[in-house]
Amino acid sequence: MKNNVYEKVAFNCVGCGLCETICPKKCIKLNEVSNRGIIPCVDYKKCTNCGLCIDYCSVDLIEEKEDLNKIKHVFIGKSKDKDIIKNSASGGVVSSILIDLFRKKEIDAAIVAFVDEGLNIYGDFITSESEVLKHSGSFYHTSNMLKNVKKIKNYKSILFVGLPCQNVIFDRFINKYNINNVYAKISLTCTIGRMKNGMVEYLKEKNFQLNGNTQILKYKSRYGVERPGDIIIESEEEKIEFSCEDYLVSKDYFYMPEGCLRCKKLFGVDYADISVGDNWGIQSRDKIAIFTANTERGLEILKNNTLIEMSISTLDELKKSQPLGYSLKYNDRKSINKKIKCLKYLYRIFPKDYLFTKVLYILRSIILAEIKKTSANQK
Ligand SMILES: Cc1cc2nc3c(=O)[nH]c(=O)nc-3n(C[C@H](O)[C@H](O)[C@H](O)COP(=O)(O)OP(=O)(O)OC[C@H]3O[C@@H](n4cnc5c(N)ncnc54)[C@H](O)[C@@H]3O)c2cc1C
Repeated sequence: MKNNVYEKVAFNCVGCGLCETICPKKCIKLNEVSNRGIIPCVDYKKCTNCGLCIDYCSVDLIEEKEDLNKIKHVFIGKSKDKDIIKNSASGGVVSSILIDLFRKKEIDAAIVAFVDEGLNIYGDFITSESEVLKHSGSFYHTSNMLKNVKKIKNYKSILFVGLPCQNVIFDRFINKYNINNVYAKISLTCTIGRMKNGMVEYLKEKNFQLNGNTQILKYKSRYGVERPGDIIIESEEEKIEFSCEDYLVSKDYFYMPEGCLRCKKLFGVDYADISVGDNWGIQSRDKIAIFTANTERGLEILKNNTLIEMSISTLDELKKSQPLGYSLKYNDRKSINKKIKCLKYLYRIFPKDYLFTKVLYILRSIILAEIKKTSANQK
């Protein structure tokens, strides 16, 4: 098994956590290695070579292009509720869907993002409307969303919220295990993932004390009415608040799992009923989402939702909403990938002093500008 796991996943793992969860011997642990990527480490003393982890790993499927023709309708909008907007990432469309479905008793549970004492983001179940806002907002580091997925059998009707890669993996899981209590799946648009080590390094730079046992009392991401909003982290000892933009500018693309470079899923339309992203095509400080109904179920959920104000948009607007993401995912990017890998390597080996950091930020801006430029050639 040793070589198989290594060859299939190596640093391409996106950290979904399914292999850890389904391993009958509990001998797999996902580890982040500096800024290189994520690697599933196997305790070979316990491993019995059953092959389940290899069989379920869907890291290869994220390389398939998604079919935007599957989209039934594109909408733009946001929640009607100010409190939902304040707590949300892009206007609270996802939170409004969750609250509405809990109120109507269409679902009795949902898998959303949780945070633990080591600042790890992972998936777990919420079972009521009152828990929704505690878990809203976007946490910009890799999330182990499949960590507790085996508990799914305890519920009657569930909604899954995750990134495109996680929707792919969740779909394989429910099909293989014959799970039939999934009410709907929501995909969050995603250009790239970020590793937790980047956030840890950022917090260290800001002198926020974080050891693996720091009890996190509050973690709110993209908080506030304007975008991209603030990040607030509060432990028993201290509290820190900084702009989400500052964190992203400082760490983006230096800390990304290499699997994200191979991923061609931007909206997650082919595995989810609804896809939701931030509408960067609109010049506005207000949070505003662009979202799609990809199935009849998705359309029904959106049309019956009374908490969202929305209007019809177009496929063209959807593409424009992701000036970087669309160019990155929908073009041949072999040479771009090489440059990004090179950038990550330089970031790892160079001292983090002012001058080198500045040079690397400039190099990154050039690479990102090059990616964006290709949008002019997009079909
Ligand atoms: C890592 C990441 C990258 C993203 N990249 C882009 C992008 O390039 N372009 C773009 O337009 N949008 C991107 N998004 C999506 C965007 O940030 C919003 O999540 C989306 O627009 C929904 O906003 P909302 O206000 O409706 O969601 P909210 O009502 O705030 O609800 C957000 C939901 O997302 C869940 N969630 C938060 N973090 C994670 C996570 N790490 N993994 C899984 N679930 C999570 C929460 O539990 C909550 O249920 C990204 C999100 C993440 C997490």
